[in-house]
Amino acid sequence: MRIDLHTHSRASDGTQAPDELVHDAAAAGLDVVALTDHDTADGWDEAAEAAVATGVSLVRGMEISTRHSGGRGVHLLAYLPDPTYPPLVGELARILDGRDARVPVMLQKLQDCGIQIEAADMRRVAGATTATGRPHVADALVALGAVRDRDEAFAKYLSAGRPAYVDRYATPLDEMVEIVAGAGGVSVVAHPWGRHQRATLDEPAFAELAERGLAGIEVDHQDHDEEERRDLRAIARNLGLVATGSSGHHGTGKVGHELGCNTTDPDEFARLLDLAVASAARSGRPAPTLVNGR
Ligand code: AMP
Ligand code: FE
Ligand code: ZN
Repeated sequence: MRIDLHTHSRASDGTQAPDELVHDAAAAGLDVVALTDHDTADGWDEAAEAAVATGVSLVRGMEISTRHSGGRGVHLLAYLPDPTYPPLVGELARILDGRDARVPVMLQKLQDCGIQIEAADMRRVAGATTATGRPHVADALVALGAVRDRDEAFAKYLSAGRPAYVDRYATPLDEMVEIVAGAGGVSVVAHPWGRHQRATLDEPAFAELAERGLAGIEVDHQDHDEEERRDLRAIARNLGLVATGSSGHHGTGKVGHELGCNTTDPDEFARLLDLAVASAARSGRPAPTLVNGR
């Protein structure tokens, strides 16, 4: 069983349509794929149709923008939440509003850097996305010939501390862990030590989140080196958290994150599903189902 629990489509900042992504997952030999667009469930229905057509099992998920103490951004993967749960709907709307409100400010800052970039340039590359993001601004800069690729756009303009960086709203991490549990889903911290930021979350911080209902840690991810994976796996084991492995695939938008480049152990996946069933029962939300699942 090959299981990849973190991918993005054009509903956020991936480059494949949701159905294309699922077809590519089947072609890559995956048995299970989770669609985890940033802050939206908008790709779920299209992905589900493709899952039925291909036989791949689909886990409906999302990657939610949160903030830990000290203002550090943390991405929280939410699997199988009820997307109609009002507190979740409210927070996602707030996050998406923050994403949209930031775009004109970023464009203005780029113009202040001497780049002729307009809202229309952004709309052209962002297509029908629900979650506008810096990767779309990066794509617009590439299309204008201002930079070579997304990486250069981030390095020159868009990363924190660079001239076109603009902060945006994200939900406090501990609150979002509780909201996902209330929605009958399970949460897993995405690439917690990405860019070698071990200080973001240490073992006591994970222990606190586990108390609030955190289900797992994304251990095997391209942003973690061998030592980080070993130490995160030990933390997961100590705290009884599920350890997952995933690609964080963004289509052609992020090199080195091909579908299935990291995978989740089937036993760990089974534990995650059991926790989702328990979460739904506890919160009174509908029992979670996979497309083509058990
Ligand atoms: P945003 O959602 O607008 O805050 O943008 C953050 C997203 O941009 C992350 O989810 C990453 O996938 C992507 N990203 C961050 N840094 C880079 C980079 N250096 N090159 C390409 N993509 C990046
Ligand atoms: Fe992420
Ligand atoms: Zn991601």
